[in-house]
Amino acid sequence: MPNLRCPECKESMNKVIDSRTKTSGKRAYIHRRRECLNCFYRFSTSETLDDDTIGGPCCKRYIKVLIDHLNDYLNDKLKSQLIEDIVNTKEQNEIY
Ligand SMILES: [Zn+2]
Repeated sequence: MPNLRCPECKESMNKVIDSRTKTSGKRAYIHRRRECLNCFYRFSTSETLDDDTIGGPCCKRYIKVLIDHLNDYLNDKLKSQLIEDIVNTKEQNEIY
């Protein structure tokens, strides 16, 4: 794990406020914006998969990270939309 302590107060508790997958050449990494829960200082971390390249032998592990990332995204952005769709479908079914 990278060093996730706050650069300001050395607190280890922080939350991810933004997370995005980036590529540099063939290497993929996850860029995370974090906020310290103690002093609210914001800092960035980059999490790379050592020796992993897209299409390489560890590609499956990379895909798993992408899926995890997608799950985070779905949870944040689409959960409410999905619930809305389910409710709408239910209402349509009740009409007929
Ligand atoms: Zn701090």
